[in-house]
Amino acid sequence: MERAGCVLCSPSPPGKPQWQATFPGDQTFAYVRCPGCGLVYLNPRPGGEEILGYYNRDYYGEGEKKFGAWIEAPRLYFAGKRARRVGRFLPRKGRVLDVGCGQGTFLQLLRREGWEVQGTELAEEPARRARQAGIPVFLGEVQEGQFGEGTLDLVTLWHVVEHLRDPVGILRRISPMVGKKGLVAISTPNVESMQARVFRERWFHLDPPRHLYLFSPETLDRLMAQAGFRMFYLNHFSMEQNPYGWVQSALNRLAFPQGALYSFLKTQPGRKRLENLPLLGKMLLLSAALLLPSVLISLLMAWSGEGGTLEAYFVKEG
Ligand SMILES: [Zn+2]
Repeated sequence: MERAGCVLCSPSPPGKPQWQATFPGDQTFAYVRCPGCGLVYLNPRPGGEEILGYYNRDYYGEGEKKFGAWIEAPRLYFAGKRARRVGRFLPRKGRVLDVGCGQGTFLQLLRREGWEVQGTELAEEPARRARQAGIPVFLGEVQEGQFGEGTLDLVTLWHVVEHLRDPVGILRRISPMVGKKGLVAISTPNVESMQARVFRERWFHLDPPRHLYLFSPETLDRLMAQAGFRMFYLNHFSMEQNPYGWVQSALNRLAFPQGALYSFLKTQPGRKRLENLPLLGKMLLLSAALLLPSVLISLLMAWSGEGGTLEAYFVKEG
C-alpha cells in the first residue's frame, strides 16, 4: 500500500475520512475527502503492481464477452446511443481515441459511421479481442506525443478516469494531441449523487480499490481545467448505469453479498460462484421488483442534477 494525496490541490491538505468500504474478500479500504476541493480519493491505496491483482479474469470476463448475450445486447444499444451523441457535438467525423477501449465495442460503432478510430487498453485480453475486430489498439497508458500534435478530434474516457493513478498527468499528456475545437468526453460515477449519499459505503460505484478517485461535477471540471479543457455539456442520466446502480446498491444494503447481482450477470465464472447462494432466487425476485422504481428515481435524480453517473463533454481552451 502507498499513501495518496489530492491530485487537484498543491500542496495537498490531509484528507478527511469519508467512507470505509469493503472489497469482496473482507479487505477494507478508506476513501477520504480533500478539504480543499472536495475530491474523494482512496488513501492508502495499492501500489502500481499491487493493484493489478484486483483486476482478475472475472473483471474482464472470460472468452469472448464480459457479460452474457442478454446483457451484451443492451450494452451495444447504449454504446450506439453514445456514439450518436458524440457525433452531435462535432461538425464532421474525424479521428477518435478511446482511452481504456476494452474490447472495442464503442470504436467499432464509430468506425461504422466513418470515424478513424484507435484505442488504448491496459489489459491484454480485451485488447486482443478489439484487434481481432480490426481496431488498432495500443497496449498500455497513453504516451506523450503518441498520436501526433493536434491530430485528435475526439478523446473518450468511458468510466476510466476514476481508475487512473495520475488523472491530471494523463489528461495533460492527451491535451496537446487534441486539435483546435477538439473534444474530450468523460463518464464517471458521481460522488455527490443521491445514490452515493443514500448508500454511502454500500454504494455500488465505490468499487475499491479499483476506483481510486470519485468525482463530482465540480471536481471533474477542476481536473479538466488543469489540462486545458472547459466543460460545455453535462448529463446526469444514464439508463445504462443509473437504474442498475440503484438496484445493486439496494441489494448491497439489504445484506446480499457485495456486488452479487453484478457477479451473477457476468458470464460463467460469476454465476458458478453463486450457484450455492441460497438467497439467489430471492435476490433475483427483489431485483425485478426494484427495477421500475429504480428507473423512475434515476429519471428524477437526473432532472434534479444528482444522477449516479456523469457524462461530461469538454472543449479544448485556446
Ligand atoms: Zn483537493
